[in-house]
Amino acid sequence: MMAKIFCIANQKGGVGKTTTAINLSAGLVALKQRVLLVDLDPQGNATMGSGVDKHQLEHSVYQVLIGHSSIIKSKYPSESGGYDVIPANRNLAGAEIELVDFKNRESILRDALQIVADDYDFILIDCPPALSLLTLNGLCAANGVIVPMQCEYFALEGLSDLVNSIKQVHANLNPDLKIIGLLRVMFDPRTALQQQVSGQLIQHFGDKVFKTIIPRNVRLAEAPSYGIPGVVFDKSSRGAKAYVEFGKEMVERIKSI
Ligand code: ATP
Ligand code: MG
Repeated sequence: MMAKIFCIANQKGGVGKTTTAINLSAGLVALKQRVLLVDLDPQGNATMGSGVDKHQLEHSVYQVLIGHSSIIKSKYPSESGGYDVIPANRNLAGAEIELVDFKNRESILRDALQIVADDYDFILIDCPPALSLLTLNGLCAANGVIVPMQCEYFALEGLSDLVNSIKQVHANLNPDLKIIGLLRVMFDPRTALQQQVSGQLIQHFGDKVFKTIIPRNVRLAEAPSYGIPGVVFDKSSRGAKAYVEFGKEMVERIKSI
């Protein structure tokens, strides 16, 4: 069985992409799934939050993209999370420019991941907050997109750019690509506005909205500074339980993909 590959994307910054990438990875490991997490963001937050030091990398996703390293050499174990990581750091910011003259510059990651796809059940890609060439590589490589979002006033408006990009990639580069679902994160059920936006989301997107809701939970925010996924850092926290629940929902979802 080949791994299912999912991009975690939203061009809006700070919406919980990396927290979702790390904790869905760890949640899937708790469900006995084999997981590879690819950090496609020069910020390297998914790398650090998985306990891999971005300052000490001999190999990284940057070298893979520019053809200076293989995907095999570039994977590091997340000891705290129990999954593998293709890490990133600031070097990756240069890739945008260096890749401009590459033929197939949008599909380098896809080709690289094919080599390890048999070794995992899930490959998750943490995208940067932009519809850039890096994100395009993620979208090109993926079977589907998971979109974390906060239920705030402009949330729906922001989604249309992402949905359009996904449609374009679907039409031109990756006919496989679809939105798997929208994940409501940092949710506070006491806020009337969030309830209202959540309702609108379901109206617009129906069963594309995941059933699981990730609550706002401070333990999830504390965990990255220890290099431990929240799911492992405090198993009994509401945030951790929600991400394991989301892992179950994903395991179910992939049966119909
Ligand atoms: P960027 O666009 O910069 O890559 P991002 O979309 O990856 O950001 P995160 O880094 O995951 O977003 O989250 C932004 C901030 O919100 C972080 O400080 C994170 O710890 C916090 N956060 C994320 N999810 C939750 C949650 N469910 N409860 C509390 N805090 C959260
Ligand atoms: Mg991030």
